[in-house]
Parts: sequence; structure tokens; C-alpha cells
Amino acid sequence: MNEEAGKRVHEKSRALQSRAELLFPGGVNSPVRAFRSVGGEPPFVAKAQGAYLFDADGNRYLDYFGSWGPMILGHAFAPVVEAIQKAAVDSSSFGASTAAEGDLAELVMSCYPAIERLRFVSSGTEATMSAIRLARAATGRKRIVKFEGCYHGHSDGLLVKAGSGVATLGIPGSAGVPEEIAALTMALPYNDLAAVEAAFAAHPDEIAAVILEPVVGNAGCIAPAEGYLEGLRRITAERGALLIVDEVMTGFRLALGGALERFCLDADLVTLGKIIGGGLPCGAFGGKLRFMEMLAPLGPVYQAGTLSGNPLAMAAGMATVGYLKEHAARVYPYLEKTAAAVADGVAAEAAAAGIAVTTNRVGSMWTWFFTGEPVADYEQAAKSDTKAFGRFHRAMLEAGVWLPPSQFEAMFLGTAHGEAEVAATLEAARGAFAMF
Ligand SMILES: *Cc1c(COP(=O)(O)O)cnc(C)c1O
Repeated sequence: MNEEAGKRVHEKSRALQSRAELLFPGGVNSPVRAFRSVGGEPPFVAKAQGAYLFDADGNRYLDYFGSWGPMILGHAFAPVVEAIQKAAVDSSSFGASTAAEGDLAELVMSCYPAIERLRFVSSGTEATMSAIRLARAATGRKRIVKFEGCYHGHSDGLLVKAGSGVATLGIPGSAGVPEEIAALTMALPYNDLAAVEAAFAAHPDEIAAVILEPVVGNAGCIAPAEGYLEGLRRITAERGALLIVDEVMTGFRLALGGALERFCLDADLVTLGKIIGGGLPCGAFGGKLRFMEMLAPLGPVYQAGTLSGNPLAMAAGMATVGYLKEHAARVYPYLEKTAAAVADGVAAEAAAAGIAVTTNRVGSMWTWFFTGEPVADYEQAAKSDTKAFGRFHRAMLEAGVWLPPSQFEAMFLGTAHGEAEVAATLEAARGAFAMF
């Protein structure tokens, strides 16, 4: 800290940024890490412990994005570190089967009764991409339904975004995605069962699957309306389409058994990522036996991965999910209570300052939308004052609280966030809103 100016010094981060811009497009290896939508420059992280990140200049930040979800037990959690160290001694990859894969699969399946067979992959993107391929093979149909504002990784067919006319004809959400591929993806408004009924009515026997985030995190946090998830289960079952519940973000976070447990929902296929790897690259997809047995080498649907079921990722996942399972009765109520204290506390600070904020929270994921209106879908989320969010983000960062750098992301916390962290966050927010 530069005490004279009372402002944080970021010399080393800025030097690293200059170098990174000559190495990586936009200076980053994932676009969400750039601070384009909030303004300001991203600190470069040197290390993290518990609820805190430390940047290259030694500044400390309270972490509310948790590596975008995985760090539910806090950074460098001792049992996870030890598990990785222990596994690494015996080599970091074999490209052959191990007991560790079976151990983690049994643990995951004990949390997810909907998963009768599982396959490990190395990212959430791979999990959803493979689940869609499987659904198309199982149904012999080509179209898929997703929802506006839901993110399922960056494979071609899932990068179709919101916009007029997408209900019947996909528009590429990215350059480089062929129209022919995007056209097979119908993006419908979230929380609108009538739109789903209409899509199936317009394209009977053409829709292979409906894929969704059971609680949206990637448009900011949006909860499913009463009866919405059950409605999707009913419609897909009636229409012979698969229901793919993308729990890459919500899995092991909203409950030990994710959104399926929290909302008593069944799925044909489930996709997992983030927490399942305890901070190492890992994803998985699984579900009903009759679909999963269509995968190679049993069946005709090809899917593979050099590092799938990687022993270090299995060890970190085992330590993380194992801890969550052992302490579930304490962990999940704690996360709920702590997240409510932060989410409601900051909302109260905003209200006291006369700033319109709508707070959406489910369990330990939440978003403060800078709007006075309720947010139940992407269109409503998009009405938020993103400039105001940017000001809030910059002020919080300067006060040592690192929020995800976009209005359209969920905040997370974990077991390392305690009362002192809650109090510090409310104080930082009070200061931030005072400068509005
Ligand atoms: C993060 C995320 C993905 C993509 O996972 P990656 O590991 O980044 O490929 C897919 N679906 C959801 C719901 C996510 O939050």
C-alpha cells in the first residue's frame, strides 16, 4: 500500500499486464478476467489463502468469485493441498485407469442419484458439449433448446445468445460459428414455460434436448420460478427430449446434490465442473444408464480425453467433495446464513444510500443488479445500470473486496468467509455507495 496517497499501488501488476498484452489476446487467457465491462485494470494474483487473494504488489483482497466457483472451501485448504501433493509424488498423469477415478465417481454418484453412469472430462465445456452429442445420438434429433443468458461453455452450438427471432432461428453469438450450427440452437427466455411449449409445438420430433442452468449464474443470479423446473421435466418427458441439467456452477454448491437435490428434480443427463475438481481442471457428465451406455467404447458416440480423470484432479476433487459430504449438515446452512448476511447487508446499505438494487440470491450464489425492477430473465437483467455496477466494482476493489468484474455474473463465498469478512464487506459497500 502507498500510504501517502492512501491508494493501493499496482506497479508490478501493471508491468505484468504490459507483458501479458504482448503474449495473450487482450492480455488474458479467458476473456472474463479482463476488466473491460467494469473499467479499471485487473490485479495480477500471486497467491491466495482462505477467503483472500494477494496480488503481485502485496495488496490483499477479499475474494467473492472463488475462481468462478470451485473454491468453496477457501484457497489452499490444507486437506486439498495435501491430497494434491500426495498424488503428485506418484506421477501427474498415466493415461490409464486408476482407483482414484472410481473413488471420486462413487462419491459423486452418492450425492447425485440421477447419475447411473459417469464420465470424467477436463472442463465444463467438454461436459456440456459431450452431453449434447449424446442427446442427439439418443434421440436421432438435431435441434437443442437453451435459455437466454445461460452459459454452457464455449462450444459452437452453445454460443447462441439472446435476440429477437432466436426462438426459431439461431443467431451466432460469436464470429466463427457457422450459421448452420447456430440455427440448430433455439435460445428461449428463461422462466417461460409457454415459450418451451411453443418451441416443441413448432418443431415436433426435432428437439433432442433442453439444457439449462437450474439456477442461472451466468446472467447474474436468477432463480427458477415456482414450478418452472418441474414444467421442463414434464414437457421434455412428454416430447421425448432429454433434460440436461447443467450443474457445472450449482453442483455441490446449492446443496451436496446440487440443484437436483435442492429442487427435488430428476434429469436425464447432468453436467458437472468447477467444485468437482477442487480447483484443478475437471468436469464430468453422467445420467441414465440407457443414454450413457451409448458412449464409446460401449456404443457409437465418440468422446475421449488425454487427461480425463487426471489423478491430481481426482485427488483435489476427492478432498473437496469428500469434505463437503462429511460436513454437509454444518457447511450448507453456514454458507446459506453467511451469504444472506452479505447479500442482504449490502442491499440494505444500497437502500440506505437511495440506490436502486435488486438482490437475487439462492444459497451461496447471488447478484446485486443495479435496477429497481425484479430480475427473472436475461432481458430484465440486461436493464441493469452496468455503469453503476462498474463504479461499485471499482470502489469495492479499491477497498480490498474483489467482486466478479461484470454485472452479469454471480458472486460466491465459501466456508473461509466468516463474520469479520461479512463486516468488512458491509463497511466497504457503505463507503462505495457514499461516493456514488
Ligand atoms: C463455468 C460453466 C461452464 C463452463 O465450464 P468451463 O470449465 O469453464 O469450460 C458451463 N456451464 C456452466 C453453468 C458454467 O457455469
